[in-house]
Amino acid sequence: MELRLYDTLSKEKRIFAPIDPSNVRMYVCGPTVYDFAHIGNARPVIVFDVLFRLLRHLYGADHVTYVRNITDVDDKINARAVRDFPALPLNEAIRKVTETTAAQFASDAAALGTLPPTFEPRATDFVLPRADGKADMVTLIKQLIAGGHAYEAGGEVLFDTASMPDYGMLSGRKLEEQLAGARVAVDAHKKNPADFVLWKLSSDNEPGWDSPWGRGRPGWHIECSAMSAAYLGDVFDIHGGGLDLIFPHHENEIAQSRCAHGTSVMANYWMHNGFLQVEGEKMSKSLGNFVTIRELLETRKFGGRKWSGEVLRLAMLRTHYRSPIDWTASALEESQKVLDSWYDVIGDDTQANGDVDDGVSASLADDLNTSNAIARLHAIASEARGRASGLPQIELKRKLKSSALILGLLHRTKGEYLANDPEVVIVDQARVDALIAAREARIPSEMRIRDPYAIAYLRGDSRELVRVVALSLGLRGLLQVGKAKTLSPHNFSVMRNQKSHAWNVLPVHLAFDVGFHRTKVVSRPLAQSSARQGEKTYHESQSRLVHAGTLSRNK
Ligand SMILES: [Zn+2]
Repeated sequence: MELRLYDTLSKEKRIFAPIDPSNVRMYVCGPTVYDFAHIGNARPVIVFDVLFRLLRHLYGADHVTYVRNITDVDDKINARAVRDFPALPLNEAIRKVTETTAAQFASDAAALGTLPPTFEPRATDFVLPRADGKADMVTLIKQLIAGGHAYEAGGEVLFDTASMPDYGMLSGRKLEEQLAGARVAVDAHKKNPADFVLWKLSSDNEPGWDSPWGRGRPGWHIECSAMSAAYLGDVFDIHGGGLDLIFPHHENEIAQSRCAHGTSVMANYWMHNGFLQVEGEKMSKSLGNFVTIRELLETRKFGGRKWSGEVLRLAMLRTHYRSPIDWTASALEESQKVLDSWYDVIGDDTQANGDVDDGVSASLADDLNTSNAIARLHAIASEARGRASGLPQIELKRKLKSSALILGLLHRTKGEYLANDPEVVIVDQARVDALIAAREARIPSEMRIRDPYAIAYLRGDSRELVRVVALSLGLRGLLQVGKAKTLSPHNFSVMRNQKSHAWNVLPVHLAFDVGFHRTKVVSRPLAQSSARQGEKTYHESQSRLVHAGTLSRNK
């Protein structure tokens, strides 16, 4: 299958031909570790993880090298260190900030279902020449100076943009235009306003390394030139990142790498994901719509509930990576429903069989058309639902799972998925038993739980959950439930399914008795004998069907 990728540099979709198919090499700019990553930061993390998975699928898991750096030297980090750890020596304070933030990022990335990159180098390990001889920033800067591409001025080493005739190709910003538009005398020590910093001197209260140009620290761009060369060589296959990095960051990476190595390209394909908006507006702290990955996972700040990483991931992939994405609560709800329905199809015992649907892989091979791939997954899921049982259905379920895995989705069983829902929290069985016993003592004998077979997950605002409740309702019990509806109509519903004449009920009485206001019920199919006696379906209140279970009438 031919993989075609849109290349920002040539501005066209091109057939991907790796330099070495036994080692396909990709570099993606990673986080600057000074604070929690926001949801916009999650987009390249997810998008390039899908590309990583696709490349592994096409070339073999051992034949792809994916490098994503960690920027742990930056003025924002210094400022954060001084603010948060004023009592500590600067280096220690910086280490605290970067280690804590890098660990937060790793945990967010894992929650989003991403594979760890092959290498995650930290910038500070690549400032000075290394014992292992891998590329480093100081050596690169020396090479640039020696080659006439950089000069020292005003306490800085600057890249001389005029030394590179085709500077500006990636962003389409011609040097002359930049000169014409530049304000005069902004940086008097620069030969050209577009010249950028490779190295700058540090004051005593800034982090610094001893270099041929004095104690200082690298500019932002040089780290990626060094770390990509260290792991992927002077020229590699794919360089990725967000659209906002095209200029100046990627433009300057290209200038540094090409001029230091004397190559005509740095990477053969430049890929950029589009911007992210929140509910139709640019995300900003001042607008109050700034939302971090962690807040989505662990708080109810956005959309009134916590979201699993898998829901966030699916929501991100429903839009093509190059298009702008509008991050909305309704899109998250929709993604939650989709995952509910897919996990309903695959259930608990479906194994991936490696049979990836041709339509899914062809969609992804067309410049990562994830929305088409997802449409195809819907088709497979509905086909699987349409087959009553038997081998074809099992094969379809397996195909659904195997195909979704390339998108990093459906890697759990249904049970694991439900248990991983952040709105579902497991509580201890003893408390559940005590609550049930208390309820049993209060209600008429004909309503008591008799024949436990359904497993219920009840969830509530208290963050506690009744994990397993055995339910058995007789017909009279159902009528009682119907009455109980009036107690809290916005929470629960009872209705008769016209088609199957099954009762769709919520165990209102039970939820009330154990003190929960919102209920999610998951029940298991009955044993054959009791299944014949009739069935009823449990629905969740606020219109989200969690899982239709079956329930028999008591005799
Ligand atoms: Zn970079």
